[in-house]
Amino acid sequence: MTRASDDDLRLRLSTKAVHAGQAPEETTGAIMTPIFQTSTYVQPGLGRHKGFEYARTRNPTRDALERNVAALEGGPHGFAFASGLAATDTVLKLLSAGDHVICGENVYGGTHRLMTHVFERLGLSFTFVDTRDPAAVAAAVISATRMIFVETPSNPMMRLTDLAAVGRIAAQHELLFVVDNTFATPVFQRPLELGANISLHSTTKYLNGHSDMVGGVVVTTRDDLAERLAFLQNAAGAVPGPFDCWLALRGTKTLAVRMRQHDASGRCLAEWLRHHPAVERVYYPGLPDHPQYELACRQMSGFGGMISLDVGSPERARVVAESTRIFALAESLGGVESLIGHPASMTHASVPKAMREAMGLTDGLVRLSVGIEDVEDLQADLDQALKKAAAR
Ligand SMILES: *Cc1c(COP(=O)(O)O)cnc(C)c1O
Repeated sequence: MTRASDDDLRLRLSTKAVHAGQAPEETTGAIMTPIFQTSTYVQPGLGRHKGFEYARTRNPTRDALERNVAALEGGPHGFAFASGLAATDTVLKLLSAGDHVICGENVYGGTHRLMTHVFERLGLSFTFVDTRDPAAVAAAVISATRMIFVETPSNPMMRLTDLAAVGRIAAQHELLFVVDNTFATPVFQRPLELGANISLHSTTKYLNGHSDMVGGVVVTTRDDLAERLAFLQNAAGAVPGPFDCWLALRGTKTLAVRMRQHDASGRCLAEWLRHHPAVERVYYPGLPDHPQYELACRQMSGFGGMISLDVGSPERARVVAESTRIFALAESLGGVESLIGHPASMTHASVPKAMREAMGLTDGLVRLSVGIEDVEDLQADLDQALKKAAAR
């Protein structure tokens, strides 16, 4: 656990991205935080040390990343993990057997799998609800409920949860309110300012932004939760190595400028796709015909580069996904390069088919992670792939 300083918390967002949590290195003045590739630290005497004893507990490169992301989310407490799922795993370990969690029904497939295949066996219970409707969240509260876990915008259906409204329900029933902020990033959405107690990320995605590491981070405003999370981070030990922390830290420096480009190109392509004859439906919170467009404008300051589109059949989805040349067919999202994926067979294969279909996640759905390439090239690439599919 590392705490962001009050000075860092007061900066504006782009300045935080570049500077927060990173002082010049003390011996040389190196402006970039070094990679402290070490497992242990020499102690000058018994019971005396410089705050660093063993690298599972603390590492200076990790400290810098934790302070940086904590400042971006409006922390102050940050915790880095070996993956986004390790971050979620640790947050769920705040609970005890017998506790009940209300979770969005359209969360990341791996989150759903972790809850139902691991934590249910250990005695937690989960109710998956459509968190677009705050009344449905309130109706799911039972005496054993301890936590509400949501992802907004959701993956891949781009459904939104009204964070302020759900935050009020959580406060009323004294429940922990956890938000997976991976899609929007702190550039466009700050859950901790809207009533969440914990904001978490897969840093693998936009925060790193260069598709060259896997990691996660948890940020909280509450000192009591921070103390317990620090204990769990050290006790369970799913920590990232210093080099991965350094890569993520290098990524967050450009987060604000990258997000502006993802957003500009995302809006442009979503609007164009909406009128494309080979596309049946486009899911993007920045389109005025998105059913929650008004909420999107209220709680987000940008819409980002994630777009889902329904091309009508699994066969056409296959042709589109296999025909793009710039959009690479791969899992993951949030990198500078554009990716295309087929959620039903890739990222969401672990979600039961009946549940997928019920939420509109059909076999004809294709998901785009719009990168920062020239948008004209991206459009031409999608156009040729869609035309090929339409000819089937
Ligand atoms: C990828 C992802 C995760 C899981 O993160 P990993 O780093 O892959 O473990 C969790 N939530 C969302 C929204 C994601 O996109």
